[in-house]
Amino acid sequence: MAENFDIKLEEAKYYTPQAHCREQSWIGDYNQAYQEFLADPDGFWDCVARELEWFQPWDRVKEWNYPYARWFLNGKLNITHNCLDRHVYDQRRNKVAIMWRGETEEEERILTYRQLFQAVCRFANGLKRLGVGKGDRVCIYMPVVPEQIVAMLACARIGAIHTVVFGGFGVSALNQRITGTDAKVVVTADVTYRRGKAIPLKNIVEEAVVNAPSVERIVILRRDDDKPVELHPEMEVDYYNLMEGVERECPAEPMDAEDPLFILYTSGTTGSPKGIVHTCGGYMVGTYYTTRNVFDVKDNDIYWCTADPGWITGHSYGVYGPLLNGATSLIAEATPDYPDPGTYWDLIEEYGVTIFYTAPTAIRMFMRVGEEWPNRYNLSSLRILGSVGEPLNPEAFEWYYHIIGKGRCPIVDTWWQTETGMHMVTTMIGEPMRPGFAGKPIPGVVADVVDMAGNPCPPGTGGLLVVKEPWPSMMRTIWNDDERYCKYWNTIPGCYTAADLAVKDKDGYIMVIGRSDDLIVVAGHNIGTAEVESALVSHEAVAEAAVIGKPDALKGNSIKAFVILRNGRDPGEKLRNDLVYHVRMTLGPIAIPSEIDFVESLPKTRSGKIMRRVLKAQELGMDPGDISTLEE
Ligand code: ATP
Ligand code: MG
Repeated sequence: MAENFDIKLEEAKYYTPQAHCREQSWIGDYNQAYQEFLADPDGFWDCVARELEWFQPWDRVKEWNYPYARWFLNGKLNITHNCLDRHVYDQRRNKVAIMWRGETEEEERILTYRQLFQAVCRFANGLKRLGVGKGDRVCIYMPVVPEQIVAMLACARIGAIHTVVFGGFGVSALNQRITGTDAKVVVTADVTYRRGKAIPLKNIVEEAVVNAPSVERIVILRRDDDKPVELHPEMEVDYYNLMEGVERECPAEPMDAEDPLFILYTSGTTGSPKGIVHTCGGYMVGTYYTTRNVFDVKDNDIYWCTADPGWITGHSYGVYGPLLNGATSLIAEATPDYPDPGTYWDLIEEYGVTIFYTAPTAIRMFMRVGEEWPNRYNLSSLRILGSVGEPLNPEAFEWYYHIIGKGRCPIVDTWWQTETGMHMVTTMIGEPMRPGFAGKPIPGVVADVVDMAGNPCPPGTGGLLVVKEPWPSMMRTIWNDDERYCKYWNTIPGCYTAADLAVKDKDGYIMVIGRSDDLIVVAGHNIGTAEVESALVSHEAVAEAAVIGKPDALKGNSIKAFVILRNGRDPGEKLRNDLVYHVRMTLGPIAIPSEIDFVESLPKTRSGKIMRRVLKAQELGMDPGDISTLEE
């Protein structure tokens, strides 16, 4: 990266939450909590781990053998014991664990902790019947239904390694993940419903297992009772038949803290997806701690994370984190704009959601269609709002804060990755929030913005976002690609590189300004994509924007912007000029786009992230690389 990398930061503007937010939060005073962690990092995580139940305590909190960490050495546990048994044998036996809602109002299911526990035990025994055991890989390719979560937990119960594949992926992406992990069993469903249409998952699986010799059995959840799909007995088993006639109880397999829990592929935003390996002990401790403290989950909360369990957000904060905390969660097979853009607000009102966690892509879509949609609903149950996946632009923050949170709800913009397993940077409840800035490292995490030599960048100077100390839920390796794992720790001395660019303000708040892969160098100046995109989105006509660099003989690169307008706005030469002028005023002349295209949509991953490399490839007539995760 070039030396001069100054970021034009606007004058600091903070929102200070009401005093009760901090006073009543689990975390209390952030600075104090952070100092306590710094004073004794191992002691800090030791205390957290003790809040959970272990079959055998650990000898040592961690062993750090750069770049390999082991956590809770020789500790024995099972994450499902902490997600289920612990609650069932305590006061939460009849507490609702999961409220599921299908695409239509008629479809609803509610599972208490006891019911979920029983389903998991039965399905786990069913998997055993198929010969699945500790260390075997099971691929879960399902819609968002309770059975998906049951399948994940059942694997964890018996020590099988799950690899969840988002139910919207096609044949080749699924095949890659099955063969990449040598899955023994695939768990799927006949159909998934999206926007009123039934998508036949089973047909996709049938194609995806051709040339996947590791697969011995396919378990199929048959949702359509009217016309149950036919099963081929040599390979296929019905989900509920598998659970029949098995023992009711299934003891939780004692797992070593370092045994793998799951493999999950990254979103594929910047390149071909990586199979991230997470382990039982550290992952449990990290997701338990962050769910409790970042979302401040209490026993009477109704918690809703809109992410599909096919992504890390769904794993950590849709399934494991809330269950570890004994929370009541809503899960929904819902699309934010189907049948209309009021769907999410309707669900929040109906279920009385108190903690809501979603992605900037959804927030920007809601901004585009207008505030009349949320304004039709009573959103007063909301207490905390969360965001994850991409930078939450200041404009989107403001909208979320005022229109959805009515100025009452703290927003936690959580920066983290599949690789980190848990939240790394955010603004803890009660702390002043700065729009556009994720915040500071959470207690337990040492993160910073540094140059290529690993030296901290001064405020206002951009650099790489890194983590400087191991943390419990860090990935342990990349499946079958340890070399690629080592790269994360060997690019910058002493640091884990997240490959994101960021800048700190003078108070230590961190703003993510883009991916280092997408960095645009214009006349020797480094420009993060998010900077220009945020500037564009702050124009009242713009709903969403993506920028790329194009080779330019004079400047090295020029900036091209792709812009989606808010509903009802006319694209035209006048607006184009306005936008250029707006960016010039916001960021200065160096960042102005030399071309602006008005578009209806942007290429995104199925998890809703803008794939700038696809725009760039289109623009330059290059090969876009792995596009298996591209949304249709
Ligand atoms: P791949 O690694 O395959 O290119 P990906 O990085 O999008 O895909 P994920 O692990 O799902 O895969 O996403 C992590 C990335 O998402 C982060 O590195 C960061 O770029 C972005 N991100 C997540 N949360 C935030 C946030 N709150 N603010 C800014 N960026 C975020
Ligand atoms: Mg990544």
